[in-house]
Amino acid sequence: MSRVAHPAGPRHGDVLPADHPPSAPDDLNALYPGIWPRGARRSAGVLTLGGVDVRDLAAEFGTPLYVCDEEDVRSRCRDYLEAFGPDGRVFYAAKAFCSRAVLRWVSSEGLGVDVCTGGELEVALSAGVPPEQITMHGNNKTLDELSRAVSAGVGHIVADSFEEIARLAYLTDSASPGGHSVPRGDPGPQGPGAPRVPTAKPNVLVRVTTGVEAHTHEFMATAHDDQKFGFSLASGAADEAVRRVIACPGLSFAGLHSHIGSQIFDTAGFEVAAQRVVGLAVRIHDEHGIEIAELDLGGGFGIAYTEEDDPPEVKDLAQSLREIVDGQCRAAGLARPRLTVEPGRGIVGPSTVSLYTVGTVKDVDGLRTYVSVDGGMSDNIRTALYDASYACALASRASAAPAMLSRVVGRHCESGDIVVRHAYLPSDLAPGDLLAVPATGAYCRSLASNYNHVSRPPVVAVGAGAARTIVRRETLDDLLGLDVG
Ligand code: PLP
Repeated sequence: MSRVAHPAGPRHGDVLPADHPPSAPDDLNALYPGIWPRGARRSAGVLTLGGVDVRDLAAEFGTPLYVCDEEDVRSRCRDYLEAFGPDGRVFYAAKAFCSRAVLRWVSSEGLGVDVCTGGELEVALSAGVPPEQITMHGNNKTLDELSRAVSAGVGHIVADSFEEIARLAYLTDSASPGGHSVPRGDPGPQGPGAPRVPTAKPNVLVRVTTGVEAHTHEFMATAHDDQKFGFSLASGAADEAVRRVIACPGLSFAGLHSHIGSQIFDTAGFEVAAQRVVGLAVRIHDEHGIEIAELDLGGGFGIAYTEEDDPPEVKDLAQSLREIVDGQCRAAGLARPRLTVEPGRGIVGPSTVSLYTVGTVKDVDGLRTYVSVDGGMSDNIRTALYDASYACALASRASAAPAMLSRVVGRHCESGDIVVRHAYLPSDLAPGDLLAVPATGAYCRSLASNYNHVSRPPVVAVGAGAARTIVRRETLDDLLGLDVG
């Protein structure tokens, strides 16, 4: 068993990372286009993002700082929409980074939004995302959350457990006298008082666990039923869930959902998952005479974090997915359902750069140089949590100094507080220099913490030479305000 989780996600704990440094790049000042936002340039040696000099960003907003290139996000939305075509649907998975500005951008580009808690739902509603363009996820939705989702009129609710189906039945069933009884267990703070919404008939997708687990270059097609999400296909729970949804007069069975993993670079895992889900669709047809309207294949499309990563083009991925689903449905004699995908990382991941100020530069003789920055695992937990790989560059100036093997570390009281495990940086790097870490738009600010009582950094949107705060920096007063003891 390994000491770390998988680079891409919390599963696959049996994969050990390669612990050797890559070779030094030819040019330490080069910006490898696959990993920097599309609007990143060097101007007189200084990194500019969306046309804004990083030294100006640091001076105005301070560091650590997340800098998000709005046009990069928007252009990736358009890439996905174009790739999946008019008969496909693309929902942005808000868990990757959830802020009102970003949800407005993706919504105005024509994407829907996938939320997985009541909190994310409120952000989406308050951003003005049309409710019918929202899909409500989550593996433990309370009665209150479901009540809010139903009364707001969200487009789809993804059922993840029998308890949730019972909660939805309770909320929506006005057909039988008194409707369904209050579900057992903790139904949420409002308890039995959670308002029923008899006029709404929510569309429900059933989330199935296909037994496929995919990350980056590999996938496993067996033995991954051992997890908390969805209904197992292998055990027959998925068939039973569909039966129960169809039996509820207040619910409209809309189709099936499957999400197989994260940071996926090839479509082999989707192929096996689609085959298994279509198998269920055939059984649904045989048993209930219904053809599923919607097949949601989830997210998980990989991006480049370092030069070693070579993710497929979105259009190639979309074409493969369409062919896979077409082929499986044709073979089963079913019409192809509408295909939906839910990229999170693929939309916001490459858009954002974390900007840090170098604090100390410590040479550990014969090993490497430790470069301490003013952030760390509180603003990017992915390296510590998943052993994720990142690149980085000296941002505030160009340098012709030779490369030094470095490790970029944070300021937290934890030896695992690593931002970039292996980095080649110029040997004249000094305190006060700005360091930039690209591809931090997904699962960095969302997973940020206040460990060691540091405040979480702001997110600044850049574009056309201007910058504006979209999520403000937390202050120590914010943190002290929570401490009411
Ligand atoms: N959809 C579902 C159901 C998920 O669980 C996730 C991530 O965990 C996503 C979409 C988004 O995945 P990614 O950001 O890797 O595209």
